[in-house]
Amino acid sequence: MSARVIVVGAGIGGLSAAIRLASRGYRVTVVEKLDRPGGKMGEVRADGFRWDTGPSVITMRHVYEGLFAEAGRDLDDYLDLVPLQPITRYFWRDGATIDAVADEATMCENIRRAFGPRDVDGYRRFMRYAKRLYDVVSGPFLYRQKPTLRDLASLPLADVFKIDALRTMHQAISAHFKDPHLVQLFDRFATYNGSSPYRAPATLNVIAYVEMAQGAWYPRGGIFQLARAWERLATELGVEIRYNSPAQEICIASGRACGVRLTSGEVIHADAVVCNVDYTWARETLIVDGTRPRAGNGKLEPSCSGFVLLLGVRGVHDPLAHHNIFFTQDYQREFDDIFVRRIAPRDPTLYVCITSKTDPDHAPPGCENWFVLINAPYLSEAYDWQIEAERYAQHIKGLLVANIGRVCPLENATSLVQVERRLTPWDLQATYGGHRGAIYGFSSNTRMAAFMRPGNRDGEIGRLYFASGSAHPGGGVPLVTLSGIAAAKCVEEDLR
Ligand SMILES: Cc1cc2nc3c(=O)[nH]c(=O)nc-3n(C[C@H](O)[C@H](O)[C@H](O)COP(=O)(O)OP(=O)(O)OC[C@H]3O[C@@H](n4cnc5c(N)ncnc54)[C@H](O)[C@@H]3O)c2cc1C
Repeated sequence: MSARVIVVGAGIGGLSAAIRLASRGYRVTVVEKLDRPGGKMGEVRADGFRWDTGPSVITMRHVYEGLFAEAGRDLDDYLDLVPLQPITRYFWRDGATIDAVADEATMCENIRRAFGPRDVDGYRRFMRYAKRLYDVVSGPFLYRQKPTLRDLASLPLADVFKIDALRTMHQAISAHFKDPHLVQLFDRFATYNGSSPYRAPATLNVIAYVEMAQGAWYPRGGIFQLARAWERLATELGVEIRYNSPAQEICIASGRACGVRLTSGEVIHADAVVCNVDYTWARETLIVDGTRPRAGNGKLEPSCSGFVLLLGVRGVHDPLAHHNIFFTQDYQREFDDIFVRRIAPRDPTLYVCITSKTDPDHAPPGCENWFVLINAPYLSEAYDWQIEAERYAQHIKGLLVANIGRVCPLENATSLVQVERRLTPWDLQATYGGHRGAIYGFSSNTRMAAFMRPGNRDGEIGRLYFASGSAHPGGGVPLVTLSGIAAAKCVEEDLR
């Protein structure tokens, strides 16, 4: 009889591990506290509107193709992934605007038209530099087990310099671009894993390469379709997914994980347990080793959190694209608010995703579904969302009207919003068990983050594995997919 593995959590990391293990012949049960797959990748419907609640940008398509190919399937049979052109439309308050596209010649032309010729060469140089980063770091940092400092030391010296870990992202970007708009545009990629461009190592400029050279996709029907596709494949492979089944404890005997106790009292025995729940949260609430709960990785700073407004709005706004960014004038201050003062930024960058631009049935005729995301601090005593959320939502809606009103006429700003839902960092923590409401697990605000992040195999408890944004290689949909694959490989090695 093949070995049995329990996966705690049906987020993308958990389902990816389940798919890989089931395709290798393991008997897999997933227990999930919610009534649906996808974790942070959820959806909400109200009054004819439909919104995704978490991810909105999907990159690294090849990672998903690889997962499906391992299972003998073709991703295209499960998802209709539409390449987005433009990927994002950027707006500044001085009237500057540019469409970011995943085609170098067109992007150079867009830069020339928006900001003149002086940064066109800088863009080409930046993309060559970012490709070199990708070529060097993707092997040791993304597609294998967690790197150690010894792995770093074993790299050829020339490659160690190419990793560019001594500068910050912002410093490296500023060395390539003269125009401050472009510096801000490329600084923004730090937020893709919840970090600050003023603190994260320049190595993270690899994120810009992944999006600007490889492209970004949208699954027709909404991002949540991706969770449904993972669920469908897992089920076809024989994975048992049990929704509304919160785990209370990961059972440990003789130093090894041996099953899961649900809050219902039921105990499910297994040869190995893969934990998709946020690492710190799991350490604090699920892993009771002997009699004493164990602390999480206190040395690593959580990633930023997010404040989300789901707005059903009246009117169709042609100057807006599927993804839109309205930049703040003071980016450094925004990140200082988030990571130093730990308060909701007073004048934040506004991200507005409108899936009804691509899927018109996501809003009633003549309306749009705006998903508005503001980067916010992880939960701390410095800011109380229970008190501030209402006032902050009003403030953000005012900023939206002011910023969007500058680029397209808003017929009646006071009756613009027909339906409103919101998600605060508290909701993110309470709903998904994300430590301090962090969206991406841990931030990469130090050079050592990649080495300090928890690995996919627990260092102390045998047969316990981690597959999530808080484990190697980190947060974001492609990376948590890789995390699931890496955790599954550890299980395969240990149960061989
Ligand atoms: C607002 C927002 C915007 C984002 N934007 C992007 C984006 O544009 N692009 C991108 O790539 N990424 C984005 N992300 C990040 C991305 O969503 C995450 O990195 C990824 O989905 C995390 O997946 P995961 O599998 O690690 O964890 P999760 O999605 O957190 O899944 C963990 C699962 O464990 C379950 N669980 C928790 N406790 C228990 C328990 N006791 N028993 C059983 N089950 C339990 C939870 O219910 C959940 O289903 C965004 C996230 C948010 C919130």
